[in-house]
Amino acid sequence: MEKFLPLEHIEKLRTLITTAQNIVLTCHVSPDGDAIGAMLAMKNFLERKGKQVLAVVPNIYPDFLKWLPGACDICIYEKNEEVLLPKLTCADLFFFLDFNGLNRMSTLAEPVMENTNAVRVLVDHHLNPELNSCHLMFSYAEMSSTCELLYHLLVELEGEDNLTHDEAVCIYTGMMTDTGGFTYNSNRSSVYYIIAKLLEKGIDKDKIYRNVFYDYSADRFRLLGFMLYVKMDILPEYNAVLLSLTREEQKRFSHKKGDTEGFVNMPLQIRGTRLSIFLRENTEQDNIRVSLRSVDDFPCNQMAAEFFNGGGHLNASGGQLECSLDEALEIARKAVRKYAPLLRGNKIS
Ligand code: 5GP
Ligand code: MN
Repeated sequence: MEKFLPLEHIEKLRTLITTAQNIVLTCHVSPDGDAIGAMLAMKNFLERKGKQVLAVVPNIYPDFLKWLPGACDICIYEKNEEVLLPKLTCADLFFFLDFNGLNRMSTLAEPVMENTNAVRVLVDHHLNPELNSCHLMFSYAEMSSTCELLYHLLVELEGEDNLTHDEAVCIYTGMMTDTGGFTYNSNRSSVYYIIAKLLEKGIDKDKIYRNVFYDYSADRFRLLGFMLYVKMDILPEYNAVLLSLTREEQKRFSHKKGDTEGFVNMPLQIRGTRLSIFLRENTEQDNIRVSLRSVDDFPCNQMAAEFFNGGGHLNASGGQLECSLDEALEIARKAVRKYAPLLRGNKIS
């Protein structure tokens, strides 16, 4: 497999890890499988090196990731600010995993950035990192996931043989979730080379798939059925679909964190659809969460930046709006109209 990480960066990282004692790992708000997988693989690796490691997420993460090895040690900042603050203050090394801008850390950004004595290392696969304050950046947008990048990093640091089974499980989970079970952003052969290597560590990839994707509540399924039947707005002239859910509708189906995960992908299964936009009244904050998914070359990230205060990848992006759901739907329709020429474009076969 081709090596692409600059040797001097690897050596710098090795020195930083060797000299650090208290290491804090952080990720983006509303952590997903890639963020949690990367944190736990890194935590496991650093603990093997005898380091004191704290994994802190800005807010809660979905139940379907709680089976991951080491997940019980993850601290949630939003619920434990007072206990965690001193630990953030005495950290000498931070790892920023799976995000490219400080705002993605939510309220965790302030205490982390106040610790000016600590060294900060970014490991991420989003375009255009806005974290100039990092002392060392591993930013590779061509990677399927932060976990794929982390695989390369860990192998460069100490060789393939030392990678443990638990680290392999965490890395596989991140790669699998960020590619929708290897259905998008996963055409590079090296992705499958890595999977082969992870299988050699004894991971049960079929079980991992079931743990993540076959662990939904009945309520979640009924909410999905309701949304697809009642709330889906198909815009055939634009090859686009709008989905929306109010807070009330989510409550009616006993919504829990993570229940709407994956909903936005579903309309892409409708023949000819190039773009799916999901607008959801946020159950944790007073805003509208926006998710966008596309196929082929339609740039979701461009649309997310232009209309939804967000960004992301070409085919998977997100953002938020400070307005009512009806206003958000209007903005989404406007966005679709503006991008009509790209949406109507011939599909690549
Ligand atoms: P999701 O729809 O799963 O919430 O987000 C999909 C992807 O969009 C994420 O992996 C992340 O890369 C990006 N994303 C989501 N929300 C935001 C946001 O508020 N700002 C930016 N820059 N990217 C986002
Ligand atoms: Mn990711």
